[in-house]
Amino acid sequence: MSQHPVVIVGGGFAGVYTAQALLKRKIPVTLISETNHFTFTPLLHEVATGSLITHDVIFEFESFFHSKLFRFIRGRVEGIDREAREVMLGEEKIPYRFLVIATGSTTNLYSIKGTEHAYTLKSIEDAVKLKRAILSRAQDADRHVAITVVGGGPTGLELIFDIDQMLDDLKRKNRTADYDLRLIHATDVFCKGGGERIQRYIARALRRAKIEVVCNAHAQAMTPDSVETTVGSFHSDVTVLCAGVRPNTDVFSGVLELDAQGHIPVSTTLQTIKDSHIFALGDVISLANQPVSKLAQTAVREAVIVARNIARLSHNAHATLAVYQPRVIGMLFSLGYGNGVGTIGRSIVKGVMAWYIWRTVYLFKTPGLSNKLRVAFSWTLGLFKGRDLSEL
Ligand SMILES: Cc1cc2nc3c(=O)[nH]c(=O)nc-3n(C[C@H](O)[C@H](O)[C@H](O)COP(=O)(O)OP(=O)(O)OC[C@H]3O[C@@H](n4cnc5c(N)ncnc54)[C@H](O)[C@@H]3O)c2cc1C
Repeated sequence: MSQHPVVIVGGGFAGVYTAQALLKRKIPVTLISETNHFTFTPLLHEVATGSLITHDVIFEFESFFHSKLFRFIRGRVEGIDREAREVMLGEEKIPYRFLVIATGSTTNLYSIKGTEHAYTLKSIEDAVKLKRAILSRAQDADRHVAITVVGGGPTGLELIFDIDQMLDDLKRKNRTADYDLRLIHATDVFCKGGGERIQRYIARALRRAKIEVVCNAHAQAMTPDSVETTVGSFHSDVTVLCAGVRPNTDVFSGVLELDAQGHIPVSTTLQTIKDSHIFALGDVISLANQPVSKLAQTAVREAVIVARNIARLSHNAHATLAVYQPRVIGMLFSLGYGNGVGTIGRSIVKGVMAWYIWRTVYLFKTPGLSNKLRVAFSWTLGLFKGRDLSEL
């Protein structure tokens, strides 16, 4: 057996859960990632709006994986040599027996001009920058502040309802403050896959919160104080781009086959088409010419299959492999404090009950006991102290 039997590139949901499942099977793992921590993305909007603080949603790999079989290397992989079975990391070359590609996704900027003026929500740094931008402008008492979220998918919706409540909290402190909150959405349906009842519920919640909704509009250009769309130009002091993601696979182009959108096509065993020693999962893959739902729950389920298949192949090169069957168990999202909507199996849940289940589910899904306790503590503290409105 070679020195590095399994190398995982990417420390998001896909990479971390694969590492965890392999370590449980006593298979040594080298995890390479750009940062030394995992980010629990489903709660990033709460950091951007002060319900949680940064350390509630990140955890350092080394403190999580207490195993001699685990090795972490911080760095950005720049390519792979399939022939030599090596991963390129600057000058260094890391050999692998099995390679797992879990480099996830990055904000899709489409071909919108001036996106450098927009904020995004993909990393902890993004959440902190966004919070700072909103607070620094909104706390300036002499100004009217316009905030625009581009993209009415789950991330855009969760964020805009939380921003609305953060602005309400600021208004209570400074009654002269004046804000405009606008959502720009490419269609006139929210949560397309969710069914009519969910769509109506979301539309009603937006109306009740008095969030201006601009439907059937595509952002075309952004400046420091405006967003231009296909239906007109809007004043905007803070613009957040949440209109989707694209796979983070540029470094593999030319070495691995990529589809037109940049996904890595994989078989149902989650192996790349041409190289059975390379597995891919999470936001980077497409399966049978279809991108797989870009969800944490998908990445976590795929991780179990990847680990199982690597374990089987480690013992027997001709073993029968486990097959991944795409399935989304449910989808819940929050519409601000005390309100939520979504599906669990075939049932629709709404209102405070949905929000409560949403919080409980994400609390239990937060990896590691100390992080769970931190999140629970921050939420409890928030009940008494309100949100954290420091520009951090
Ligand atoms: C704001 C937000 C909210 C979300 N909410 C939900 C939700 O409520 N429910 C849900 O199911 N899903 C949610 N998602 C989607 C979910 O986060 C993703 O589907 C999931 O993170 C995919 O996991 P991944 O490991 O494939 O990718 P990622 O989590 O993107 O991780 C990829 C990792 O690879 C690293 N990396 C990338 N390139 C390289 C390289 N070349 N070298 C080394 N390291 C590299 C990155 O730094 C990162 O650590 C949300 C996403 C966002 C952004």
